[in-house]
Amino acid sequence: MKARILDRADVLKIVDLLRQQGYEVVAPFYGRGRDTFFDTVTDQNRDRIQIHLPNPYYPPKRFVFPHIERLMKFERSDGQIHIEPVYEQPKRAIFGIRSCDLAGIYHLDRFYLGREFRDVYYENHRKNLFLVNVVCSDVDRDINDECFCVCTDTGPAARDHFDLQLMDLGSEFMAVAGTPAGEALFADPIFRKGEAAHIEKRHAILDELRKRFKTTTSWFSATVRYVTQGDILEKTWEEIGNRCLECGGCTYVCPACTCFTVSDRPIGPNEFERVRVWDACALSGFTRMAGGHNPRKAVHDRRNRRFFRKLAHFFIQRELAMACVGCGRCAAVCHGDIGMPSVVEMIRRATGEVDKHERASH
Ligand code: SF4
Ligand code: SF4
Repeated sequence: MKARILDRADVLKIVDLLRQQGYEVVAPFYGRGRDTFFDTVTDQNRDRIQIHLPNPYYPPKRFVFPHIERLMKFERSDGQIHIEPVYEQPKRAIFGIRSCDLAGIYHLDRFYLGREFRDVYYENHRKNLFLVNVVCSDVDRDINDECFCVCTDTGPAARDHFDLQLMDLGSEFMAVAGTPAGEALFADPIFRKGEAAHIEKRHAILDELRKRFKTTTSWFSATVRYVTQGDILEKTWEEIGNRCLECGGCTYVCPACTCFTVSDRPIGPNEFERVRVWDACALSGFTRMAGGHNPRKAVHDRRNRRFFRKLAHFFIQRELAMACVGCGRCAAVCHGDIGMPSVVEMIRRATGEVDKHERASH
């Protein structure tokens, strides 16, 4: 991977370069208070783009997997039904995507494109996507109390899956190219060669940063084993499930959740559309079958499904990573305090200390 240095004052020129190349660039902005969001960059808002800010709760995965997406349109005329698939293939760049969310997109790539069946809608969104990763290096603004990318090995500096990575070194930024498209930007005169001192500074900043994370879930590997082997007692899942209010928030904010449902709806007197919409395993409709039977009627049966999907070895082998990238959003939004770090801790306490005989008899 090639690296270059650029002045702090030139960082947003990367956004300009991408826009000149025809990309719709989305970047992070501040709303009111803690509210932060990704939005399309225009001439009017370009100077308000933020490099350091709390990661938006609404993850940028929506740019490859929209929360609601039209798949096809139907029209009834002359006694016939006409079906027209709807494909969108935007040329888009996400500027300022965090390392955890980058890992989330890689997870979605594995899920939607990594096997025999390729999801054409996802593929269209992904095809012309340019990813500019910004390393979280400002302890006060970038790293929230709930972040734990250090435990999922996804941050604070991503090692791959970006086109270009930017890291704040103070008065200068280091840019690392992850793809030929990223490297092509280095032809612009804003970039210059770096020195050994820049690399030393990068390492020193990252070493210090890793000590500043407040959430640490060092029991991930044991939890993966417990979940995979079915060691977790039913009463532990019940305790976890009893705290769930079935709001679906944990799923909707998760950059690595992949589930959706499909429905048809009228959009005019003789027109209909088929849409896919994010779905959440916490919601009872998620597993309800035609005829009304629900094999996962109890909340805890649905909650354990979430953690099985995220932590069981079978899925990790299939997607080459856990379906948790350590963003901490579920911990921030859950009313019942059963985000990922809390659940890992609850499982550790209840399972690590349980008597083997009790487990055997369960
Ligand atoms: S955010 Fe918490 S309360 Fe809401 S569905 Fe998820 S686990 Fe349940
Ligand atoms: S499970 Fe929670 S912490 Fe992990 S990626 Fe999803 S929202 Fe983030």
